[in-house]
Order: sequence, then C-alpha cells, then structure tokens
Amino acid sequence: MDTKTLIEWSNRFHVPTYTRAPICLVRGEGVRVWDSDGREYLDFTGGIAVVALGHCHPRVTEAIREAAATLIHTSNLFYTAPQARLAKLLCEHSFGDRVFFCNSGAEANEAAIKLARKYAREHLASDRYEIIAARNSFHGRTLATLTATGQEKYQRGFEPLVPGFKHVPYNDLRAVELALDSRTAAVLVEPIQGEGGVIVPDDDYLPGLRKLCDEAGALLILDEIQTGMGRTGKLWAYQHSGVEPDVMTLAKALANGIPIGAMITRDPIGQALTPGSHASTFGGTPFVTAVGLAALETLLEEKLPERAARVGRHLTAGLQGLKARHPVIRDVRGKGLLLGVEMARPAAPVVTACREAGLLILTAGDTVLRLAPPLIVDEATCDRALAILGAALAAQAA
Ligand SMILES: *Cc1c(COP(=O)(O)O)cnc(C)c1O
Repeated sequence: MDTKTLIEWSNRFHVPTYTRAPICLVRGEGVRVWDSDGREYLDFTGGIAVVALGHCHPRVTEAIREAAATLIHTSNLFYTAPQARLAKLLCEHSFGDRVFFCNSGAEANEAAIKLARKYAREHLASDRYEIIAARNSFHGRTLATLTATGQEKYQRGFEPLVPGFKHVPYNDLRAVELALDSRTAAVLVEPIQGEGGVIVPDDDYLPGLRKLCDEAGALLILDEIQTGMGRTGKLWAYQHSGVEPDVMTLAKALANGIPIGAMITRDPIGQALTPGSHASTFGGTPFVTAVGLAALETLLEEKLPERAARVGRHLTAGLQGLKARHPVIRDVRGKGLLLGVEMARPAAPVVTACREAGLLILTAGDTVLRLAPPLIVDEATCDRALAILGAALAAQAA
C-alpha cells in the first residue's frame, strides 16, 4: 500500500477532527521514528509527552510481550497482581494512599471531579459541588473535562456545558481567593499549563493554592497528566513546590504509550468512592498495569526525572541561545523536558519546516513551539534538534 493512498483513505474514512502532518510513521526506536519512505526523524513530540522512555524501550516491549501472553483482561470483578503492584508503587512514590485506574487523561479528571463532588457533598455541605479551574487550561474532551478546560475554542458548539464550574486567571492567587466560597468543592489546575502554552506559574502559586484550599475546606486537584512521570525534572511537578495536592491525575506517560489513566488521592478522601460509585470496564487491566509497572520501575531505576532536569537545562540554554540570535523568539520557558518557545509569529510554519528537515516538534496554542522529547534524550541529540530548529528559524526570517 503506497502512502498516498493511505493518506487518502484516512482523510476519507475518519471524521475530520485531526490536522495531521502528511507523513505516515511506521517504526520507532528511542528518540527516533521513521516514515513509510524510510526517512528518519528526531521525535521531540514524544507522542505528546507520552513515550517518556522512548519508542519501543526494551523493558516496556518485554512487559507487553509477557503480559499479552499471560492475562490481558479480567474486569474489576477480580484481583490481579499487576494492578495492585502498580497502585502500591504509585502510592509509595507520591503523596497518595489510594488509586483509581482508567484509560485516559480525561477519564482521570472525570474521576477526580466526581470524587470532589461526592466528598464535598458527604463531608461538607449538600450544595457544595463547584470546581474552580483556570483560564487557558486543558483538562480533556469529555463534557465535564471540556467544561473544566478554560478555553472557549474547545467548547464552542458543544453547549450546554456541565454546570458547576468557574474559571479564574491562571497564576493569580487573589482571583482564586475571591472565587472560593461555600459552594467550592475543589480547585483544579495544572502545575504547568501544557496545551495552553507551557505556562509556568510563580513559585508561590501552588503553596498559595494549598493554603487557600485548606482555609476554605476545598480539595486541591492537580492535573499532572502532562507534567507527571518525571517530565519536569521531578517525578511529579508538585514536588518542586513543597506542598502536596489532595488529588492528582495521571495518564500520558504512565504506561509509555499503552492507554492508561490514574487518579491518585489520600485518605480519607478516597473512601468517598464507595463500592459501585465509580467504575471502568478496562480500567487497570493486568495488561496495561503490567506495562505501567515496567515503565514506572524503569523510570525510577534509570533516574529519568533527574536526567530530564539535567538535559532540560542543556536544551533550555540552547533555546536561549536561539532567542539571542532570532528576534522572532519572544520567550523560552518550561521545566525539565517540557519546554515552550513563544514566538512573535504563528508557530505552525516552523513546525512544518522542522519536520521537513527531520525534527518533529509540537505547538501549544498558536504562537508557541513545544518540545517534549523522550526523557532518555541526550545532550548531543538536543544539539542536533537545536541546529535544525535554528536553521528553520533562519529560513523563515529570510
Ligand atoms: C493530554 C491532557 C489531558 C487529556 O488527556 P487524554 O488522554 O487526551 O484524555 C488532560 N490534561 C492535561 C494536562 C493533558 O495534557
């Protein structure tokens, strides 16, 4: 089958919701992927911050093989060892006491929203159900998480949205203080806004939110779907802040590309999800949790969060160097290996030029380039990516 026909079929037989690059990827290894013409690319998208260990990491591949040949699915009517072991490992390495497994980021946030409502209603007041979220945020595409997402462009056409959500500007503690009232069940934010443009809040933001939530009796929910699993240079981004959330949601990198989501919380909050109150058919199958276990164990053993911090500093310095030479770059920001380059012009043409030169990168909003390579990337590979990006910027300026 030739690539042209494949692309035609794809455009004809899918709902046209995705804007895709005109290449067909067929294989990956580490930080590299290959298209159907045999062309090699450096993958600084990491499958949108998913393949933290790189493509086809041998330990992940081995876990997939073994789990596929042992037991794939049982339903949650029974106990399975990988699910219990992954839940225990997640709790041992976070603030959490309890985990709920699901299949995606949006579902993890749904679980967090449902937990917050049920907990607030049962422990605080029967009319306490409101969630305060941030403008410019991204929390998913289901109706409730779309409502939580503070960006109209994602919501338009899907109204009426779900009641019970309020939005305030990000990185503005005073706005949260004014919005919190006797109806507030929880505050939901990303520790760094990913899709919204790699926006890093001030150091006092999360501690301030923690304090405001404590004073009001509201839960603090952190969406670590993009920032978790070492991406920002710590295992969880909240670990930079000195405070802990009540609820954290994970997905993207948790099983290095096999679909999984998780909501982590502490006692006694988690006990609000009593038997029968929430569920997922596929949630935490022995297959996906065996892969998640291999991914998390490998990430910890290979100290990839520390590596993300170190290599991220190198990549940031390189981007700062590009900024000094290319006035079109307005700002370089981010943490670890979640980096944003704000431009004075639309970012899409630069993404295209980079791809044509063998480098895959992301955007985050219209004018921000986003880099989220696998955490196994090394400095020399970053330098190659920087050279391609620099040449693309120079060509655009000419
Ligand atoms: C990707 C993402 C989501 C949504 O995850 P899906 O698996 O696509 O549902 C939610 N929140 C954040 C911060 C994300 O980056």
